[in-house]
Amino acid sequence: MQQKIEYSLDPENWDELRAQGHRMLDDIIDYMQHLRERPVWQPAPDEVRDTFREPLPHGPMALSDVHETFMQNILPYAIGNAHPGFMGWVQGGGTPVGMLAEMLAAGVNANVGGRNQMPVEVERQILCWVRELFRFPEQASGIFVTGTSMANLIGVLVARTKALGVDVRSTGLQNSSKRLTAYTSVAAHACVAQAFDLSGLGTDALRLIPTDARGEMDTEALKRVIAADRENGCTPFFIAGTAGTVDTGAVDKLSVLADIAEKESLWFHVDGAYGALAVMAPDIAPRLAGIERADSIAFDFHKWAQVQYDAGFILVRDGTLHHDTFAAPVAYLARAERGMATAYPPWPCDFGPDLSRGFRALKTWFAIKTYGIEGLGKVISGSCMLAQYLKQCIEAEPELELLAPVSLNIACFGYRCDDPDRVNANLAIALQESGIAAPSTTLVNGRLAIRAALFNHRSTTRDVDALIEAALRFGAAEVRNTKAFEKVA
Ligand SMILES: *Cc1c(COP(=O)(O)O)cnc(C)c1O
Repeated sequence: MQQKIEYSLDPENWDELRAQGHRMLDDIIDYMQHLRERPVWQPAPDEVRDTFREPLPHGPMALSDVHETFMQNILPYAIGNAHPGFMGWVQGGGTPVGMLAEMLAAGVNANVGGRNQMPVEVERQILCWVRELFRFPEQASGIFVTGTSMANLIGVLVARTKALGVDVRSTGLQNSSKRLTAYTSVAAHACVAQAFDLSGLGTDALRLIPTDARGEMDTEALKRVIAADRENGCTPFFIAGTAGTVDTGAVDKLSVLADIAEKESLWFHVDGAYGALAVMAPDIAPRLAGIERADSIAFDFHKWAQVQYDAGFILVRDGTLHHDTFAAPVAYLARAERGMATAYPPWPCDFGPDLSRGFRALKTWFAIKTYGIEGLGKVISGSCMLAQYLKQCIEAEPELELLAPVSLNIACFGYRCDDPDRVNANLAIALQESGIAAPSTTLVNGRLAIRAALFNHRSTTRDVDALIEAALRFGAAEVRNTKAFEKVA
């Protein structure tokens, strides 16, 4: 007797699935279209959180019911970075085009680790475009990664290979007599230090160079520290400049760093997580002069370029060295003359630690094709102009003070009062909880600052006005509360 074996997860009724799929698409497009009418953020009530403590589901549930739960209990309680009033941290807003492209990518479900398939070619197309944007040579390599944290790690690992030779991959660092040292500014993102931790070089190998009044690396201090390290028998090998620091948006003097790296024979890496793609904005691009001389650039399409999460990228000038840092010949990944496993196109898995990889390239390709470099560049110019507008608003209000230069698209400010750190910390929370505008906080020269980072392509002067109005109102209330409290106490 013929046994029937069937366990497919596809629907029995495709028409039903199609109708449900259309409803889901309509719902999420409605959400995007009407974002502005919602609060930027609202905390999830305990009852909602509690519904996510259910036992492991064994039986099936209708897709429409699962979707309903998503609509009720997940969608309203995201952090809100898609919303025009979101100004916290460094986060992109995403686009409708990117969302639709993600859906298509999910349908293909490509594993872009390698092999003879167009999804790999799409990623190579992005690499070609990225080379062109940064004026890198044809030998330059690059791949998508989760984000700049991973991209910085890859940059450090390739630089390590350059400094110690490919054998370091097998011998490890123990057998090296060289004491490698590296340099970045105190304003660098913590993931640069993390890259030294993860690479085994250790964070002690990374010297944190002070910054000047503009938040840029003090290049004279850098030269002095390099000289002192050489004096002490260390082997300087790596400089990481930052294009757009996370706190204030400062851009290191990349040309000067490139000169120093060249003179000292050091690897020049740029953490351009959010700022590097400002090369797309003709008015901002000159600020990045020198980035085209980097040995490697780490950046994110998911921040200023508004591509859906996640879409980080690492670009390396010396593609051979990049390949030799990661490629590992194994039988099951052998290349063939013809068929599916041809050596061309180069396999992304040879350029990073990931073997299975999603189709991040597709949403990026759709975004660049649909909006063009001009469209994306306009978003970047626009948010810098909006930051200047915000700066003017802050300076026009006697109750507010600007706490750092507005270099690109980040403004740090505070409410003037007797106990500013406490009041401003509470003010930032009050703003977030109001759902009106959502800045975050940071420390600027040891002072707590409300930090409004304008990354969202949907943000306008209206959102900045709302931020200022609410900051004045909540700031005054906070000061009043403090006084009332002091009287009682
Ligand atoms: C966001 C950011 C990072 C980290 O990038 P992820 O994509 O979050 O991993 C690193 N450096 C800077 C300057 C950043 O703004």
